[in-house]
Amino acid sequence: MKSRVAVHWFRRDLRLADNTALAAAAREFDAVLPVFILDPRLLEAADIGAPRVAFLLDSLHALRGRLEKQGARLVVRPGDPRRILPDLVRRSGAGAVFVNRDYSPYGRRRDHAVKVALREKGVAWREHADLVLVEPWGCVKDDETPYTVFTPYARRWRVIEKCPPVRRPRLAQGSASPIRRIAEGRIPTLSDLGLTLSAGILSGGEDRAAHRLRRLVRRRLGRYRSDRDSPAIEGTSCLSADLKHGTVSPRQVYAAVSGFLGPDLVDLDPARPAKVLTRADQSRLREAGTFVTELCWRDFYQSVLFHFPHVLRGAFRARFDEIVWPETRPEIIEAWTEGRTGFPFIDAGMRQLARTGWMHNRLRMVTASFLTKILLVDWRVGEKVFMQRLVDGDVASNNGGWQWSASTGTDATPYFRIFNPVLQSRKFDARGDFIRRWVPELADVEAPLIHEPSRDPFTMRRTGYPPPCVDYAERRIEALALLGSN
Ligand SMILES: Cc1cc2nc3c(=O)[nH]c(=O)nc-3n(C[C@H](O)[C@H](O)[C@H](O)COP(=O)(O)OP(=O)(O)OC[C@H]3O[C@@H](n4cnc5c(N)ncnc54)[C@H](O)[C@@H]3O)c2cc1C
Repeated sequence: MKSRVAVHWFRRDLRLADNTALAAAAREFDAVLPVFILDPRLLEAADIGAPRVAFLLDSLHALRGRLEKQGARLVVRPGDPRRILPDLVRRSGAGAVFVNRDYSPYGRRRDHAVKVALREKGVAWREHADLVLVEPWGCVKDDETPYTVFTPYARRWRVIEKCPPVRRPRLAQGSASPIRRIAEGRIPTLSDLGLTLSAGILSGGEDRAAHRLRRLVRRRLGRYRSDRDSPAIEGTSCLSADLKHGTVSPRQVYAAVSGFLGPDLVDLDPARPAKVLTRADQSRLREAGTFVTELCWRDFYQSVLFHFPHVLRGAFRARFDEIVWPETRPEIIEAWTEGRTGFPFIDAGMRQLARTGWMHNRLRMVTASFLTKILLVDWRVGEKVFMQRLVDGDVASNNGGWQWSASTGTDATPYFRIFNPVLQSRKFDARGDFIRRWVPELADVEAPLIHEPSRDPFTMRRTGYPPPCVDYAERRIEALALLGSN
């Protein structure tokens, strides 16, 4: 029998378009009460950071505005979902709570507890797939065990059919509905939450995300592979915060790429297409197909976290937990965090993170490799700094990226691959434009000296740029001995 009201509990899906659970709630019930809960377990966690929360609050305002245009209201409440949801259900007379599935260990525990509390009151709990293109159990080996290496995972993932986006629902709530009597609740400010933003971050919300997606298709996809490794060029999508908070869905992104490439190319491996292609198609697939691979990495790390939740406590491979990372001096960790290591490419990346809450992927790899394999600091220190500073901080992708960089993870880079920050800088920022943008002391230093200013004592004195905080060659030998013995 059809019950009149359902609650939709927004979490990492802060949009109306292509929201699987929201669309189902609107289809099956007469009225939907949209709810967002500010959960102190998340907002007061040690790894919370102002950029991520600022983007979230911005997106909540945008969501509320969009709902109002439809004649609906977003109810916002601070507190424990296990208490808040049953209360809202009782007051609205809702017959079901709809959510999009969360695969993180905390999210699963929380959802289980809420589901049990609701079921005791006879309220249905309805979960939908939304956060990923392929759910963690949808891409497993023939023997149904999870993949721990990316390449075979990706081979299977590519050929699994991806759901198309669903229609935006109509959510008007009748003026007599019991929902109307429930107070909306205020969206707090950052300072209400005890946070201060020092970075100039991207704006949140569905409209901004749609704009970034259109820009990707019009200007970036056709050259994605060629430009994605050059941090001085705006060559990537900058959709990570949108995908983290759900102001865009992965299906919308996939559908946009599929529209660009065409359905015959979108599921092909750009490195080894299983068909004979024209030169033009080969080139388009090489460029834009590489972007699809990035969406696959995102699903892969969600799957790793789902199947191996211990990665949030330690190394994927237990033997790496025995490593005693020797560097713990606060001044060294601070030099890395604040971008004062004396290695310009590293410092430029870390300052980009501090000022914008975002860092280019090449720099994430190089700064993470530097912290663990040259400074010899425990990767968990860097993992936490990134979570605190990134606007797109996502437990699964961040943990995956750090374990990959430290060579402790599922699909890790071999321990002896240590990115040399000077060589990386020469290769990916040959003219030094990226360094110049973020390290203004070096703004008038020419390439190649800008990659290694410590070679010239006069430049060092003149610019006041710090000398290298460690001896690269010595530390590299130490790292090989440390990591190789495990
Ligand atoms: C140490 C380290 C930490 C990282 N932490 C995060 C994090 O907290 N959150 C996060 O979203 N990404 C993280 N990444 C992955 C990647 O760096 C970012 O997703 C990317 O730089 C975001 O920029 P973009 O949106 O322009 O990416 P694009 O190149 O345009 O890629 C499109 C989308 O694919 C996904 N993606 C791309 N690369 C990866 C990857 N390696 N792993 C997982 N998903 C990927 C992202 O959702 C991204 O928005 C991390 C990588 C490393 C090496």
